[in-house]
Amino acid sequence: MKNHSDIAIIGCGPGGAVAGALLAARGYSVSIFDRQQHPRHHIGESLLPASMSILQSIGMDGAYMQAHHQGKFGARFFDPVAERLEVFGFALPTDATPPPTFNVIREIFDLQLRDIAQQRGCRIHENSAIVSLTEKQTPVQIQDRSGETHTCDFVIDATGQAAMMARKLGHQEMLPDFGRLAVYNYFSNIPAPESADPFERQYLTMHIIDGGWIWFIPLRDGSTSVGVVLKRAAVQKNLDLQQQFFAAIQQSPCLHRRLAQATVLAPYRAAGDYSYHCGQKFGPHHVLIGDAAGFLDPIFSSGVHLAISSAARAADAVDAVLQRGDQGALRQYQADMDAATRVFQAFVERFYQRDLIRNLFFSSDKNPVMRKAIISILAGYVWDLTNPLIQMLQSAVPKTIPDSDCVESAQCEKDESAASISPAAELTPTLATPYAGSR
Ligand SMILES: Cc1cc2nc3c(=O)[nH]c(=O)nc-3n(C[C@H](O)[C@H](O)[C@H](O)COP(=O)(O)OP(=O)(O)OC[C@H]3O[C@@H](n4cnc5c(N)ncnc54)[C@H](O)[C@@H]3O)c2cc1C
Repeated sequence: MKNHSDIAIIGCGPGGAVAGALLAARGYSVSIFDRQQHPRHHIGESLLPASMSILQSIGMDGAYMQAHHQGKFGARFFDPVAERLEVFGFALPTDATPPPTFNVIREIFDLQLRDIAQQRGCRIHENSAIVSLTEKQTPVQIQDRSGETHTCDFVIDATGQAAMMARKLGHQEMLPDFGRLAVYNYFSNIPAPESADPFERQYLTMHIIDGGWIWFIPLRDGSTSVGVVLKRAAVQKNLDLQQQFFAAIQQSPCLHRRLAQATVLAPYRAAGDYSYHCGQKFGPHHVLIGDAAGFLDPIFSSGVHLAISSAARAADAVDAVLQRGDQGALRQYQADMDAATRVFQAFVERFYQRDLIRNLFFSSDKNPVMRKAIISILAGYVWDLTNPLIQMLQSAVPKTIPDSDCVESAQCEKDESAASISPAAELTPTLATPYAGSR
């Protein structure tokens, strides 16, 4: 039938492209629609090691990634007041080949993913904004802005922050207590830091400031992505984006001095009000993945990992529905994604309670077991129930995503016991449980 596919995917970001590549490889006819055309700008450059096995499964192995993207060996947290740098390494930058994960220029990375989906048989429709769909019965009807209609047996919503179906069905709940505004730009010719830091470009560095944080993400082309994320109270009214950016950067004086001498590469951009949860992630003929299913503050770089891993898990579930009518697979998918989100969400909440995160991340106490547990979460292994910190975070947060008051009291209690969590030597996260392709 003309314009009919087994599966239609709306959105060709990392979530949509990975889901498409995996389902096309299983023999399904897949159409992917995107309202934009690649290459297109997107924020979200820092990946996690836990995504690598999924990328490898669609042909982006370590060697491929190393040829195109900047190796990332861990996450560093810098406290500019105490001038203290805490390094959580996934591997030593001197000896890991390929690197455990990467910082990517999203224009390039997302284009590569689209090409892989296409090579695996997906039909890609760009400049095709989907404006309506009938998800309650099959065939599902999808209409784009030009009025063209497509049909499918199952639809995957991968529309990112547009969260098309969650908004349509009223399932989107905002999480107002996280970062409210991000302002960012790209810089080149950044002078070296005053204290020698030979491995700066091998890490993602977060500067912790009052009311928010700053990301410093070196990229393969020599540029660096720098962004500030501010809580609502820290956003200064009547400042333009550049002023807002530098007002925050000033809180990290060394970085401020360096950026003042660097070359600015783009207009300042902003993203706001981006943290939300979707309580219902599926229906009989549709499923939500990636940001379309929910998004947390980007402090722990969880976005692309959750997009890719939800795509892989949703591909299994959609396959089970189309092969066996197994709707339980969709329920399991939602339970899996909610479990992962709870871990990252509890971590983000701790981060925004500054004293607690200082206890947790900057503590001088040595507790190698807990340090290894932190690194494993920072690497994205959030389904590993042998991780003692995941057990603690899971029990600290109620099963449904709670309101902020409820979370704060739960976290306060738990963080008293977390005060002894502290750094140790660089570790490889052996607690890892890579996604195996099926449950
Ligand atoms: C300030 C900020 C910083 C971030 N930093 C990081 C980071 O360092 N690391 C990280 O992992 N994540 C980061 N993220 C999150 C990351 O950007 C997202 O989680 C990730 O891009 C989600 O992928 P996705 O495939 O779900 O959606 P997207 O990548 O957003 O793709 C969605 C696609 O859907 C298309 N679309 C939308 N509506 C329609 C429609 N109606 N019809 C057709 N197409 C449509 C869009 O054009 C888009 O191409 C950050 C986010 C923010 C806001």
